[in-house]
Amino acid sequence: MTINDDPRFSPRERGSLRALGEEVLAQLEQHLELSRAGTVPVLRQRPVGELLTALDADRWIRQGGMDGDALGRFLQTYLAESTRLQHPAYMGHQVAVPLPPSAMADLVHGTLNNGMAIYEMGASATVLELAVLDWMLGKVGWRDEGLPYGEPSPAAPGAAAGSRPGGVLTHGGSLANLTALLAARAKACPEAWVRGVPRDLAVLAPATSHYSIARAVSILGLGSEALFSMPVDGCGRVDPSLIEEAYEDAVGAGRRVIAVVANAVSTPAGVYDPLPAIADFCEEHQLWLHVDGAHGASALLSPIERLRLTGIERAQSVVWDAHKLLGTSTLCAAVLVREVGDLLGAFRQQASYLVEEAPREVGVDLLGRAVECTKASLGLKLFLNLAVYGEAGLARQVEELHAKARSFARIIAERPGFAVLCTPEANIVCFRVLMLDDAAQARLRADLVRQGDFYITQADVGGRRWLRLVLMNPLTDEAVLEQLLRACESIAANSRG
Ligand SMILES: *Cc1c(COP(=O)(O)O)cnc(C)c1O
Repeated sequence: MTINDDPRFSPRERGSLRALGEEVLAQLEQHLELSRAGTVPVLRQRPVGELLTALDADRWIRQGGMDGDALGRFLQTYLAESTRLQHPAYMGHQVAVPLPPSAMADLVHGTLNNGMAIYEMGASATVLELAVLDWMLGKVGWRDEGLPYGEPSPAAPGAAAGSRPGGVLTHGGSLANLTALLAARAKACPEAWVRGVPRDLAVLAPATSHYSIARAVSILGLGSEALFSMPVDGCGRVDPSLIEEAYEDAVGAGRRVIAVVANAVSTPAGVYDPLPAIADFCEEHQLWLHVDGAHGASALLSPIERLRLTGIERAQSVVWDAHKLLGTSTLCAAVLVREVGDLLGAFRQQASYLVEEAPREVGVDLLGRAVECTKASLGLKLFLNLAVYGEAGLARQVEELHAKARSFARIIAERPGFAVLCTPEANIVCFRVLMLDDAAQARLRADLVRQGDFYITQADVGGRRWLRLVLMNPLTDEAVLEQLLRACESIAANSRG
């Protein structure tokens, strides 16, 4: 008996993707309607045991036998207890409200399961990954945008093939940062792959860099003491006048700096580091510049917003998450390198610029560029968003979310009793309730989340705690902001009383 002959499935569902799919789609559609209307909590957090019981998890795991109707009932609970990114009061984490084409890509991938580490395991998925990577490389300024996407750009005459730009998609920005810093380590210290890591390496990163940078430094075997912080200003952006000092600290400690990291944008307040000044410094000292554009690189799509990214083209590596501002589901992150040989060299010992992918009869295997072996068809998600909305459509959404952050910041700054950290440069707004100390800001946030009417986060910047709005949802409007500010005022009044 095969799973499809299992008598516990009713004939309607047996082997029928469409029947199950229709049940799931109907449930999802209803869920999205409720979420968008904003008449339900944006998140709920019941205790673990209670929620497991509500989902009947133990019984389903032990006994199986869920049919289509039971799946529908199960999903009702599952969806109701899930965090609603489509809810207008969702201003939580830097995760996209996924656009429908990307959701369709997940369904297609989940059905085909082309785990495309090698070309044979997914030709369509591989070429679309290459095509969207080329599109991103063009946005960074490393590739002539007139070239056909998916076709490698020709190396300069006389140059090694590895000097072409290139990249790979990974399951998330954290893994992308690790991959890029591994490439930097291999460039500075190719023998580390075989002999292990020398004790004198160092990485310079902004004090506000994402925690995945510190993790990568430790995972790469450099030890956390190898991470030297570049001082930042009150908004959390690198102070260019203090880079030299951080560098001298590392050199004074007897270390070789293998990479300098710049934020585009920083995670806490969403501000751009001064890329031209950092690039000048890196060029002067011949250092690998890694731009962590996980969140902010999407601004490259906008002719106006991209001015803040001027200088990104002078980096050796860039990380860019499509699952933040390009509307894909999690995950779809790009590691982009100015010279693809550097990426290929990350996973082996040979001099990186000589290495090319092993020749195969047809196609290209991406296996040699990434930590992952089996990989999802990540490129399809971004491809379908581009194919449906066009670059202009995605650019408009980025611009609208950025503009909303600026206008929200103005409204908050003008309201008595509130202060704003700085003028937003992306879609992130940090603010405080003036009467409350740091601990009380955190309690206020916890209260909001417990009540479930608003989902916001918090961040520590400039030695103080800030309430943090990440504007991912086009439905979040000034009326929602007004309700949020009133809720803050009422919680603050009660906490003082
Ligand atoms: C989100 C983010 C990351 C981590 O990316 P994930 O996809 O969440 O792993 C790294 N750096 C910055 C600047 C980010 O904003």
